[in-house]
Amino acid sequence: MSEHIDVFEMARQQLAIAARYLDLDDGLHQVLASPQKTLIVNFPVVLDDGSVKVFEGYRVQHNSSRGPTKGGVRFHPDVDVRETSALAMWMTWKCAVANIPYGGAKGSVKVDRKQLSRRELEKLTRRYATEINIMLGERSDIPAPDIGTDAQVMAWIMDTISMQQGHTVPGIVTGKPIALGGSEGRTEATGRGVVTVMEEAAKIRNLNLSDARVVVQGFGNVGSTAAKLAEEAGAKVVGISDALGGIYNPKGLPIQELFNRYSGRDGGIREYKDADPVSNTDLLELPCDILVPAAIAAQITKENADRIQAKIIVEGANGPCTPDADRIFDDKGVFVVPDILANSGGVVVSYFEWVQDLQNFFWEENEVNNKLTKIMRNSFASVEQTMRSHKTDMRTAALIIGVRRVADATVTRGIFP
Ligand code: NAD
Repeated sequence: MSEHIDVFEMARQQLAIAARYLDLDDGLHQVLASPQKTLIVNFPVVLDDGSVKVFEGYRVQHNSSRGPTKGGVRFHPDVDVRETSALAMWMTWKCAVANIPYGGAKGSVKVDRKQLSRRELEKLTRRYATEINIMLGERSDIPAPDIGTDAQVMAWIMDTISMQQGHTVPGIVTGKPIALGGSEGRTEATGRGVVTVMEEAAKIRNLNLSDARVVVQGFGNVGSTAAKLAEEAGAKVVGISDALGGIYNPKGLPIQELFNRYSGRDGGIREYKDADPVSNTDLLELPCDILVPAAIAAQITKENADRIQAKIIVEGANGPCTPDADRIFDDKGVFVVPDILANSGGVVVSYFEWVQDLQNFFWEENEVNNKLTKIMRNSFASVEQTMRSHKTDMRTAALIIGVRRVADATVTRGIFP
């Protein structure tokens, strides 16, 4: 479904909507519509069989007006420079909505990590980190995990940069293992934030989470944590999926058990027998109250938005709904909690990790979770208030806040020289 959708164009359309509300000056609009720096690298890796393969990777910094740029690294066969630029732009707005002092960035490598051995993955990671090192720095650009990367990949990036600098630089990446200066609560942070805003959205729609049926697309870091915490909050998770397909049981799925057995293993959940198999497309259209797309972009478009039955959509993934789908949801009265608000828990705790690394002073998990919940609730409340005052939807409201903060910082700093 995603093949015909240019997600960078989609991100620019969203910016244009916010620009109209903010009556943004044309020049400023142009500044915000383009990434500040883009690096494309082609680099070789010697595979286990001795052959050499060249991989293409990117690092895009969208805007650094509010601070160092921050953004995940994605290893996925379908990435390209336009998608990476869209993801970098969304990071800028996301950090601004959460009001943390970062701009947005994103990195990616066109690779199917499942085709690589662990040794090959490590070599690819270290070479990619070396190639993009000219962009990175704990005060300039800080990567984190995204699709296809995890704490181990972050550890290799941190070690590679540390070797090149001659001393350990823990603040160069976030989402690291705890033993290397990672933060308590980082792994679950995005899913935890998703469920916090889910609770807030449910209150607005007079829905009790303990009566709610939830469907989650994606059973990776974000999807599995969101499903687990939704279950803990009393919701009935009736459908989940991974890249190979999903399962559905209207009576509810045992998420904690599925998490223990299958999390992080593509195809695993289909082995669970007490449920009906369902395709990823059909999963989105299942009867439910709350839908959490937590996999990849452009899953909900004008082709299927009409058939979505959920009353609330909480975007765990980046860019799962296209602007055409947004218009359909607006007409249908579906309440969409947009990605730049809903999945900001990850970058919020990444920010906490970075602060802890720079100070060499580490916090307890409770402290991290409480601070995260507070920021998520405050962000939700200010987006909801902006939605009401501008009589618009939650995505436009979040963009109004995010774009305004970045525009103000850009204007106040002034255009150099
Ligand atoms: P992950 O690699 O841990 O998991 C991705 C999941 O999506 C896996 O279960 C995979 O099987 C599934 N998937 C992949 N392709 C699919 C497809 N075509 N259809 C259905 N499912 C598919 O990645 P993640 O970190 O959980 O990220 C998921 C989404 O959340 C991405 O859009 C990412 O950008 C976004 N996000 C992640 C974080 C974070 O902290 N990890 C933060 C903010 C946003």
